[in-house]
Amino acid sequence: MSFNLNTILRPNIKNLKPYSSARDEFKGEASVYLDANENAFGSPLSQAFHRYPDPMAYAVKMRLSEIKGVPARNIFLGNGSDEAIDILFRSFCNPGVDNVIIVPPTYGMYEVSANINDVQIKRVNLTEDYQLNLEGIAEAIDKNTKLIFICSPNNPTGNSIKREDIETLLANFNGLVVIDEAYINFSRQKTFIQELTEYANLVVLQTLSKAWGLAALRVGMAFASEEIIEIFNKVKPPYNVNEASQKFALEALRNVDQVNDWIKEILKERDALVLALRNFDFVIDIYPSDANFVLVKTADADGIYKYLTEKGIIVRNRNKVELCEGCLRITVGTNKENQALINSLKKLKDD
Ligand code: PMP
Repeated sequence: MSFNLNTILRPNIKNLKPYSSARDEFKGEASVYLDANENAFGSPLSQAFHRYPDPMAYAVKMRLSEIKGVPARNIFLGNGSDEAIDILFRSFCNPGVDNVIIVPPTYGMYEVSANINDVQIKRVNLTEDYQLNLEGIAEAIDKNTKLIFICSPNNPTGNSIKREDIETLLANFNGLVVIDEAYINFSRQKTFIQELTEYANLVVLQTLSKAWGLAALRVGMAFASEEIIEIFNKVKPPYNVNEASQKFALEALRNVDQVNDWIKEILKERDALVLALRNFDFVIDIYPSDANFVLVKTADADGIYKYLTEKGIIVRNRNKVELCEGCLRITVGTNKENQALINSLKKLKDD
C-alpha cells in the first residue's frame, strides 16, 4: 500500500497557519493573567468559568490515555464525535472535487457533513446481512476518494462489521478508513484503537455520549497517528471542548466501575427486551445487536411508531431508510422504561 498523508491533505490545510490563542502562546504558571481579555473579577456562578479552558484538553486526554492504552498524542477531543466527522471533511476533501464512500444504512451525519462541505457521496449499500460489499467498494474508489466511513457496531442496524473486511480496506485503500466506534463499549468485538501503529490510514471515532452517559457534555474522541491528530488540532476551533465539559469529563472518567456496571445491566436489559419483543405477532425479525439498541422489523412500523408516540414512548422510525423497511430502532432503557414499552405493545396487540 502506498498511503501518503501529504497527498490526501487539502493544499489550503497543508499551508494553513493555525490561530494561536493566548493560552497556546503562554503555557506556564503566572500570578497575573492580562493576556486574553477575560473578566478578571470572576463568573456570576458558584464555580469559576472566567478563564478560557485548555485548548488541548490535556488533562482529559491523559486520563483517556490511561483508560484506553493509547498515547495522548494520538487522541483528538471534539465537541462530540460529530465535530471530528466535520473536521475530516474540512481537512481532506476538496469541495466540488473529492468524494467519500459511505455504506448505508448507516449513521446519517457522514452524509450531512459531506453535503455541508460540498463533497460528493458514493453509496455502496451493505449486503442483506448488513456487512460490507467489498467488491462494490473497490469499484467505487477512484483517485478522488478520500474517506471511507465504517460504523461498527453500526447505527441503525446494531451489528458489528467483520473485522477481516475492515482490515482488507485498511490494507488496500490509499485514503483514510474512518471506523466509528460510538457503540464499542457494548460490543463483543475488539476496538481498532490498538492498531494505530499498524495502519497509518486509520481513524477511530469514539464518544462519551453513549456508554459513558455524557451526551449533554458533547465530548467525542478521534484516535489516529500523531500526524493526523496534528491536522485535526490545526483545523479545530481554538476552545472546542469547553471548561465545563473538560471538568465533568475528567470527574466522570474516574468512575469507570460505575460505567462498566451499567454496561452489564444494559446488555442484560437488551437480552430481556429481545425475548419480550419476540412474542409479538407484528415483530417479523430482531437483528442481532452489539449496541445499546435493537433494530426490529415489524409488520407496520409507521402504525406502531404513531401508537407508541401517543402513549408518550418515542422510538426511532427507520421505515423510510433503504434496507430498513418496516424497522423501528429501539434504545435499551431502564428496566422500568423497557417494561413500559412492552406493556404498551401488549395493549396494541389486544386492541
Ligand atoms: N457516531 C454514531 C454512530 C452515532 O450514533 C452518534 C450519535 N447518534 C455519533 C457518532 C455522534 O456522537 P456525539 O454525541 O459524540 O457527537
